[in-house]
Amino acid sequence: MTMSAVYGYMVEGMGYTSLLRMCAALNINCMNSNTFIKYKNEVVSVTCEKTRAHLREESVPAIVKYYGEELDRHPDDEGILDIDVTFDGSWHTRGHTSTLGCAAVIDAHTGLVVDYDTLSKKCTMCTRMNTNLKKKKIQQEQYEEWKQKHLDQCMLNFEGSSGAMEERLAVQLWGRSTDIKVVSSGWCEGGRLALGTERGRQETCAR
Ligand SMILES: [Zn+2]
Repeated sequence: MTMSAVYGYMVEGMGYTSLLRMCAALNINCMNSNTFIKYKNEVVSVTCEKTRAHLREESVPAIVKYYGEELDRHPDDEGILDIDVTFDGSWHTRGHTSTLGCAAVIDAHTGLVVDYDTLSKKCTMCTRMNTNLKKKKIQQEQYEEWKQKHLDQCMLNFEGSSGAMEERLAVQLWGRSTDIKVVSSGWCEGGRLALGTERGRQETCAR
């Protein structure tokens, strides 16, 4: 069992219990749940990194090129290009109780994703370690030591209501819009892409 197996289970929306059942059916040894979580976090990290690189190096230059060639709209003196976008958020489950939410900013002309982000109200590792601490399976000192090491990988990044996730994501994405750099466009190298003209719409979404 390797990281590929974990990736496969994630793609199919299945978790560790499903993997355990499959291993039992095949009568083979299964990785433990900590290893599963470790691989899962690595898959998430690599996937996010690759997706962001793709947006930066492929989508953003393509959008800037389209605006220049088709709309005669070019970056200003500071290298900022205002673009027309749509924004929408979604949740992992229905019913306003989902612990996972995501949102994306999409260019209205090309349909390309400009930026996206996710919020999570839950971290599997934190839940497990908190339970272990409550049941006194580990000591407070061990917990604190683990927590320090875990901070970089912690999936918990939101503590409000599920319904408030979309608003938070809108603020986050708009807040960093001018930081999106065009890194591989020969004719606009070093330029920046901004969503500045859409601030009004962002406020509407945020309500
Ligand atoms: Zn955590």
